[in-house]
Amino acid sequence: MEEKTKNLSVIIPVYNEEANLRELITRTSAVLEKLGGKNEIICIDDLSTDGSLAELLKLKDEYRTLRVIAFHEHLGQSGALAAGFRNARENIVATLDADMQCVPEDIPLLIESLGENDAVCPKRSGRKDSRIKKISSRIGNGARNFITGEDIEDTNCPLKLFRREVIQDIPYFKGFHRFIPTLLKLYEYSVAQIPVSHYPRRYGKSKYNVFNRLFKGMADVLGVYWLKKNRLSVKCFSEEK
Ligand code: UDP
Ligand code: MG
Repeated sequence: MEEKTKNLSVIIPVYNEEANLRELITRTSAVLEKLGGKNEIICIDDLSTDGSLAELLKLKDEYRTLRVIAFHEHLGQSGALAAGFRNARENIVATLDADMQCVPEDIPLLIESLGENDAVCPKRSGRKDSRIKKISSRIGNGARNFITGEDIEDTNCPLKLFRREVIQDIPYFKGFHRFIPTLLKLYEYSVAQIPVSHYPRRYGKSKYNVFNRLFKGMADVLGVYWLKKNRLSVKCFSEEK
């Protein structure tokens, strides 16, 4: 592992996840401690209606690496991620969901897999979600790959890793979190894909159903297709001396 890959910002969107937070922060902090280097955890509270924000503020007193961003408006998972990406201070940025369906203990594996790549976007193996969720995910994934000509196995695995300048370079829009590896490839960045473990959600509820996930995601495919056709690449120049 190169020295410069050791400083990590872990971005976690939080919406009504009170019962998950203590274990999440304890386990993530332990992983970061072991990694060494200069690390931070940024939790973005998406205007939760349970005690998530109060719990985060309590945890912030106990864990010096925890930063808390509190929304005054509910902006959704993509809004929370965008705020985290914009505010990340370290050179490597990881994402994780608050429910620990993917686990912080896999972060070192992603760091090892980064190598010369710009990002690592894993595939959830043995996915522990309902049948309907897995089917709608497969349809969404297939449509994204078909229309963009990419070969991303799992566009929406919650655990991902990026070089900070890369994740700050792609466009953010409502629902962009379902397209992150697709957008990275579209913007000519390299993406490694590895398998990671997946677990059932233990506390709290999923915030999505077929309607707010699949249909919104499918409509956005057209927008991303437009972007693919109209994006300006500014990499095709040489500076004359
Ligand atoms: N989330 C959020 N705002 C929302 C919906 C979700 O910040 O409007 C967070 C949520 O707390 C979790 C992550 O985004 O940390 C993914 O949500 P969830 O686990 O419900 O999605 P699923 O795994 O069911 O796709
Ligand atoms: Mg989840």
